[in-house]
Amino acid sequence: MSRAPNSALEDLHREIRACRACELHAGRTNAVPGHGCHDADIMLVGEGPGYYEDQQGLPFVGAAGRFLNELLERAGIKRDEVFITNVVKCRPPNNRDPQPQEIAACKEYLLAQIALIKPRAVCTLGRFALAALVDEKLTSISRVHGKAYRISGIIYVPLYHPAAALHNERLRDTIVEDMSHASALLHRELTEGRETQPEKAPKAEPKQLGLLDLQ
Ligand code: URA
Repeated sequence: MSRAPNSALEDLHREIRACRACELHAGRTNAVPGHGCHDADIMLVGEGPGYYEDQQGLPFVGAAGRFLNELLERAGIKRDEVFITNVVKCRPPNNRDPQPQEIAACKEYLLAQIALIKPRAVCTLGRFALAALVDEKLTSISRVHGKAYRISGIIYVPLYHPAAALHNERLRDTIVEDMSHASALLHRELTEGRETQPEKAPKAEPKQLGLLDLQ
């Protein structure tokens, strides 16, 4: 799976599996630290484990995961070449939204994963990952999907959550298109070393972010 052993990441995942920093630990079958290539160029960050993820200790293995596999395949990205994780690593009861204190308790794990894996691009899946990683004031994906933000040298691409797009034909087409644009952008960056020029962010967007157009 990993092209290079990353024992610091394995240590971190051991810590996550034993974590009791918030109440979600009490209801878990398994914590779900994340899975995939330990030096991936692309990371995907969802919201939190659901029933099947909690049972198996792996991210995106249910219906949303099957759609994510399809998205990756259509964008020419192999699942075993990316690293997939979530904002919270333990399943919220009845798949409710993760609470602010749960997100805060788990955030240092997510930031540590990014620091250890050093991806070139991070696709945020849904509003919780968008708020946690791009800007906490950005909670509306409809305004920012299909754009990309460069923060500390990493390209962040906000995507709709696959579960939201699963049963909505319009969102489904949009997320397929956004993932393909993101893949093309990253391919250009990696193979041609060509940096897409940041555009001036519209007024409503956070000022510190360089806004890149994926179109
Ligand atoms: N939804 C998520 O956000 N993450 C998973 O791992 C599965 C479903």
